[in-house]
Amino acid sequence: AIPGEKPKKPGKLVVAGVTISNPDKILWPATDDHPAITKGELIRYYELAAERILPHVADRPVSIIRAPEGITGETFFQRHAMPGSNPRLKLIDVKERKPYVGISDAGGLIAIGQAGGLELHPWGCAPDDPETPEQVTFDLDPDEGLDFNDVIAAAKMVKVQIEKLGLHPFVKTTGGKGLHVVVPIRADKAARVEWDQCKAFAKEVSEIMRRADPDRFTTTLAKKARGGKIFLDYLRNGRMATAVAPWSPRARPAAGVAFPLSWPQVKPGLDPKAFTLLTAPALLKKPDPWKDFRAGEENLRPVLKTLGL
Ligand code: ATP
Ligand code: MN
Ligand code: MN
Repeated sequence: AIPGEKPKKPGKLVVAGVTISNPDKILWPATDDHPAITKGELIRYYELAAERILPHVADRPVSIIRAPEGITGETFFQRHAMPGSNPRLKLIDVKERKPYVGISDAGGLIAIGQAGGLELHPWGCAPDDPETPEQVTFDLDPDEGLDFNDVIAAAKMVKVQIEKLGLHPFVKTTGGKGLHVVVPIRADKAARVEWDQCKAFAKEVSEIMRRADPDRFTTTLAKKARGGKIFLDYLRNGRMATAVAPWSPRARPAAGVAFPLSWPQVKPGLDPKAFTLLTAPALLKKPDPWKDFRAGEENLRPVLKTLGL
């Protein structure tokens, strides 16, 4: 803890200069698997994980799933800054009328927690540049009843395709049912691509996989097309589309966290439920498997050409 930021009195907590109301409020009720998790614990988690989370969310528009009364209460998917928003949050101008919520530092992240923000969903854009994609997300959505080992196999197949194209794939759990394979791309003037190109790239790679194994993969959004398959959700890659941030908690019963993994971890037997708000503090002491995420960015333009896009 930072000196001078100890609880002022029972039930009062100040973190990164943000006064936390109701730190004892239960946000994740206890389940068979884990004890209840309070707002104070969420705040402590954000404080601990800020250094890892911020490079992936700072200065982009970020939608927040808020659950001020906890995950069993009403939840909101909030895109825009509200009147009276904490001054530590910044506004991000996009072409649309209303500015989006933005976070630029640990104080902003804590302010999100103070507002009951449980999930962070940034755009895939470069910092302060909503019109330029800087990553491609392959969201693997298994049909109900599929084994997680099938998702693992699919993620490894995406990895092979991406590496064949000379790009560097990273992988994370979602805190939910699937996995995300995320590919950093250059956003500088000499290499930047448009959102439509980013989405077309994600779609084409997904189609290559579906054509190679149509019994296993679908690229059709409709749930009824899923029938025992994995939906390769390339739609996370359009302008204004979002994906859950690495290390974001999820407003779901088991308090899962969208947790970055190293590829060697992605093997049969991997249990995505092992990554939760309770296990995260110990896991965060290990080396960051996404340490070289930005260093792995490549120019997507020649790849688009290779694919005939
Ligand atoms: P899973 O592994 O369970 O599929 P996920 O994060 O990939 O987890 P969802 O929570 O179903 O999947 O969300 C898919 C994407 O849609 C999220 O990444 C999020 O950014 C976006 N999203 C989620 N809720 C909403 C909403 N209410 N409105 C708009 N977009 C949303
Ligand atoms: Mn998904
Ligand atoms: Mn999806």
